Amino acid sequence: MVIEINTLLLKDDKKGIQTGAELLKKGGLVAIPTETVYGLAANALDGKAVLKIFEAKGRAQDNPLIVHIADWSMIHELTTELPQQAYKLAKSFWPGPLTLVLKKSAAIPETVSCGLSTVGIRIPDNTIARDLIRACGFPLAAPSANLSGGVSPTTAEHCIVDLAGRVDGIIDGGSCTVGLESTVLSLAHDVPVILRPGYIGQEDIEAVIGPVSMDKTIFGQFTGEVPLAPGMKYKHYSPKAEVIVLKGTKSQYINYVNQNNGYALCFDEDCDELKVPFLSLGSEHDFATQASRLFSCLREFDQLGAEKIHARCPGSEGVGLAVYNRLLRAASFHVIEL
Ligand code: AMP
Ligand code: MG
Repeated sequence: MVIEINTLLLKDDKKGIQTGAELLKKGGLVAIPTETVYGLAANALDGKAVLKIFEAKGRAQDNPLIVHIADWSMIHELTTELPQQAYKLAKSFWPGPLTLVLKKSAAIPETVSCGLSTVGIRIPDNTIARDLIRACGFPLAAPSANLSGGVSPTTAEHCIVDLAGRVDGIIDGGSCTVGLESTVLSLAHDVPVILRPGYIGQEDIEAVIGPVSMDKTIFGQFTGEVPLAPGMKYKHYSPKAEVIVLKGTKSQYINYVNQNNGYALCFDEDCDELKVPFLSLGSEHDFATQASRLFSCLREFDQLGAEKIHARCPGSEGVGLAVYNRLLRAASFHVIEL
């Protein structure tokens, strides 16, 4: 099916993968499913193809891309140094939502690394993505398949809304299981450091390689110093509506929301007492469900025509930290302490 001039909507079957691989081999762009969010893929070894990703998304040219590989064997061509920790982490978490930042080889074009001496690499836990990479025979650079600054896509429909007419193909692989971007861990520093929280938490990583630190930009707003992950300084995950994160008890939240105009982004436990329209992220204790629903809820608010969203602050343990990190950015750090 042709959805708009120049964009093919492809199924996640053999033919869809084959057509996607042909488009990518010609230097084209294809939006692909992964377990985290949909990625906007190009041949990671072709600087010109990669440049098209930045144009299609409107992405800042100093924000490097993550390179996706299908098998461990593909990593050697892309890096100059593989610390023992990389082997251990790959064994424990790959395929999976963990990106390792490593010293890059000369095979990585400048358009991927954006002037850094490192490259972020992962193996996605999605057979369509891995089969596509194998069919291409090269790694795929793939940031999230949305317009820069907007909400990351967790379904093919989200990619169509943002990118139809701007990319060569979109492979429909259903809903993403994790629903949030990967954890980014740099092994290129003296002590391993988490640059972006994700489904794989600090404790999970420490159980495998010992102490890791957290980059301070995870919790706060970028203040001007050079961030370790360039992407941390940009506006992110924002729906059209204004998002405000409310910190306080459940009853404080319910009182505030019921007395102020707007929509509520709440937990299942809140629904019965709300007198305003709401969407629930799931139980307040179920961080994995919150992660999988966050982006689709933010997009749904746009469809509902919401102008203001009052979000109840999620817990910040485990995967909750990643949900909290995305929500803070969706709210441009607008937090009200109740
Ligand atoms: P996205 O692909 O849109 O999910 O964003 C990837 C994130 O990883 C951005 O915040 C990037 O700045 C960060 N990133 C990618 N490659 C590197 C790298 N080599 N060093 C540090 N951060 C990176
Ligand atoms: Mg992104």
